[in-house]
Amino acid sequence: MNKKFDVIIVGAGAAGLMCAIEAGKRNKNVLIVEHTSKIGEKIRISGGGRCNFTNINSNNENFLSNNMHFCKSAFSKYTQNDFIDLVKKHKIQFHEKKLGQLFCNNSAKDIIEMLITECENQKVEIKIDTEIKSIVHQENLYILETKIEKILCSSLVIATGGLSIPKIGASDFGYKIANQFNLKVTNLYPALVPLIFQDNILDFCKSLAGVSIEASVKINKTIFNEGLIFTHRGISGPSILQISSYWKPGNTIEINLLPQNSLEKILRERRLKTPKQNISNVLSNFLPNRLALAITNLLNANQKIGDLSNETLNKVSNFINKLTVLPTGTEGYKTAEVTLGGIDTNEIDSSTMECKNYSGLYFIGEVLDVTGHLGGHNFQWAWSSGYVAGQNV
Ligand SMILES: Cc1cc2nc3c(=O)[nH]c(=O)nc-3n(C[C@H](O)[C@H](O)[C@H](O)COP(=O)(O)OP(=O)(O)OC[C@H]3O[C@@H](n4cnc5c(N)ncnc54)[C@H](O)[C@@H]3O)c2cc1C
Repeated sequence: MNKKFDVIIVGAGAAGLMCAIEAGKRNKNVLIVEHTSKIGEKIRISGGGRCNFTNINSNNENFLSNNMHFCKSAFSKYTQNDFIDLVKKHKIQFHEKKLGQLFCNNSAKDIIEMLITECENQKVEIKIDTEIKSIVHQENLYILETKIEKILCSSLVIATGGLSIPKIGASDFGYKIANQFNLKVTNLYPALVPLIFQDNILDFCKSLAGVSIEASVKINKTIFNEGLIFTHRGISGPSILQISSYWKPGNTIEINLLPQNSLEKILRERRLKTPKQNISNVLSNFLPNRLALAITNLLNANQKIGDLSNETLNKVSNFINKLTVLPTGTEGYKTAEVTLGGIDTNEIDSSTMECKNYSGLYFIGEVLDVTGHLGGHNFQWAWSSGYVAGQNV
């Protein structure tokens, strides 16, 4: 006989687990179906293994979406403090790293264990290694077919996340279901992702792989002031991951490698005061040695500062304070932390996460067109949207 549940959640990630716990607390009989053999695998690898599980300052301004207001309702119903209380209840030690970002002291596994314990307390059933072959909506029921059985539910929650890191289970399942139910999906892009270059700027980056600085990066009016690191393929680090969410092919990025100083005046003064000093030594007072040398070599300016013309000094200071680069692409979903875009929020009721046109069908977490900045915001969206659906399924 086909087994029937009140709620079936597809995806045992952050949002799916939170939704299951909350629905369980309302005495719903809940099943989570996960196609890999692991629960919360993205939580495990997050935050360098320590899971940046929320951000003290998270609010709708930390998100990209076609509708900036969509996430407000969920955030007001389940805040970062609610999640922090849950973490405290489980005696998980944590700390603020910077900019309101909260990380586990010990391991991201503490968060996974916490969520699994909460699911067990609510008698949530979790089936791993289970592929869903098809979903049919019939007479107010959703019928899911797996290799071995048909399972039925009144509320179906899609919590299958985005496309990033396919090797740990990311799939396009959520978007396919959206297509099946004629729901609009926005364009999708890898985001929070390193940027790559070609040609001589690539050689420059390669020669500096591993060098990091505090930089300011800008596209139009969007600016991030955080770390930047040179890589063998281009540039990465928090400032670049952040700006990547705003970057589209063809866009240039303006980078200030020394945001705290305007170099033009400083270099002219140094030329008068210490004309015999090599310019790369002058720059080493402000930048890592390797970077100072690479810049002056690239610009054919590696000479005594007293011998350099105004034009060359301007070239050097512009390169450092106002470098305009044209990335050729991103490292893609293989390394992206998130997918920008998703199921169009116009299709979803923001106060319940239910589809406006299909009673009983819910979408939560990253699969929706709600994409957070780096810093714990994406998990907060998963917890808040999961909570809201859990109250309504
Ligand atoms: C390397 C990395 C580090 C990150 N670090 C942070 C961080 O520190 N802080 C932060 O806020 N965010 C971080 N993120 C982003 C964050 O992990 C995601 O935004 C968040 O996990 C999204 O939650 P979700 O539940 O929507 O999706 P996921 O957590 O991705 O869960 C989706 C689940 O659905 C399953 N699934 C997929 N397809 C199917 C299918 N067909 N059938 C059944 N199951 C399926 C997947 O296997 C997975 O278990 C990081 C992401 C990455 C990749």
